[in-house]
Amino acid sequence: MDNHEALDLFAQAGALLTGHFKLSSGLHSDQYLEKFRLFEDPRTLDLLAADLARRFADDRIDVVLGPTTAGIILAYAVALHLGVEARYAEREGDERRLRRGQALEPGSRVLVVDDILTTGGSIRECLGVLASHGAALAGVGVLADRTGGELTFGAPTRSVLCVKVAAFDPGDCPQCAAGSPITAPGTRHLASAS
Ligand SMILES: [Zn+2]
Repeated sequence: MDNHEALDLFAQAGALLTGHFKLSSGLHSDQYLEKFRLFEDPRTLDLLAADLARRFADDRIDVVLGPTTAGIILAYAVALHLGVEARYAEREGDERRLRRGQALEPGSRVLVVDDILTTGGSIRECLGVLASHGAALAGVGVLADRTGGELTFGAPTRSVLCVKVAAFDPGDCPQCAAGSPITAPGTRHLASAS
């Protein structure tokens, strides 16, 4: 699907909100991604996972790895479409590890997936998992890239939806200037904005 179709799908799922939002960074924006809404309807997630899998169909992927929580659901779905296995990177202290008897073959080509790319922190933690097992990064796939394509990880980085969410200092916010009331998403929402 193209970027416009992806935007429609996100909006239909209730994952793309428009309004006047105070982000966790303190900046104001007219858009907010409520990413977990994408995981409510398995058919929606399946469409997105199939699309992401197609983008890496020619990259000789051996295994798909995702970080908890949403990333492991996505890893499962993308791996199913690519016909390969999935691995789940769980948080342990300041880093991520494979637990519960999971491992990666040294030299295996790993596609790392996650739901939203904002700062790349979770992806980098997953790269640490690959390094600890001697596996190779074959690509990074995300449902939505909020950086507008600015972050790369030394391997093809592809997204279903690529958006550059405009964010303003409160003093420069057009909606503040227009007197529009602001929605400050609660801590539950802020936690999901990472
Ligand atoms: Zn504002």
